[in-house]
Amino acid sequence: MPMPEVKRVLLKLSGEVLMGDQQFGIDPAFVSELAQEVKAAQETGLEICLVIGGGNIFRGMAGAAQGMDRAQADYMGMLATVMNALAMQSALEKLGVSTRVQSAIQMDQVCEPVIRRRAERHLEKGRIVIFAAGVGAPYFTTDSGAALRAAEMQCDALLKGTSVDGVYDSDPKKNPDAKRFETVSYDKVLADNLKVMDASAVALCRDNQIPIVVFSIREKGNLARVLAGEGVQTIVGGNA
Ligand code: UDP
Repeated sequence: MPMPEVKRVLLKLSGEVLMGDQQFGIDPAFVSELAQEVKAAQETGLEICLVIGGGNIFRGMAGAAQGMDRAQADYMGMLATVMNALAMQSALEKLGVSTRVQSAIQMDQVCEPVIRRRAERHLEKGRIVIFAAGVGAPYFTTDSGAALRAAEMQCDALLKGTSVDGVYDSDPKKNPDAKRFETVSYDKVLADNLKVMDASAVALCRDNQIPIVVFSIREKGNLARVLAGEGVQTIVGGNA
């Protein structure tokens, strides 16, 4: 399956990549590098929606494991994604890229609420729309948020930029013989519980036939290479 032709994409970055080489939080220098990659992608004529995770700051599951109420911890996680969205907005605007943040949890002083038609208008005007706070409900992740926004904004693909260069048949950090898939079907990802995105996100993409392109955003220039069809990635889609 070749890289799909794309005009509008949803780029999902896991919160972890904003840490750079740190163990926690946001590394502004690295966020600035990411912003440059996003800017370069936009300059090729793409319309870009962005979703950023919150795992570099807080994950609901981690809070729950330490005895917190799960839903409460998840709301904290959602707030973390808003902080990341603001950090990315700031980095992009420093580069002269016009952006808007839309949050699924309303916070008028900070950013806009999610309004699909307004987001459409932003994209038409060449702005990048950063969707924050996932789907706005606990027990979900930003992967589901990304799949949802990709569907409602009618994106041609969901690009998942993470710290590994694709989907493997087993954990490449533990198994040196792990094999990377060039392409893999949604159903295989779900049946074999392959680590791509959570099941609800994969199912939403499958039901709406949105290809998921998993690639490493840690390597400089990789986003552009992937978009040009010259990168290393796994494409989840079809029934391959
Ligand atoms: N979260 C949530 N609902 C959502 C999106 C996120 O409850 O729709 C919470 C959840 O606790 C999650 C945290 O926000 O652990 C951070 O998001 P995620 O783990 O998806 O971030 P990533 O792994 O991409 O950095």
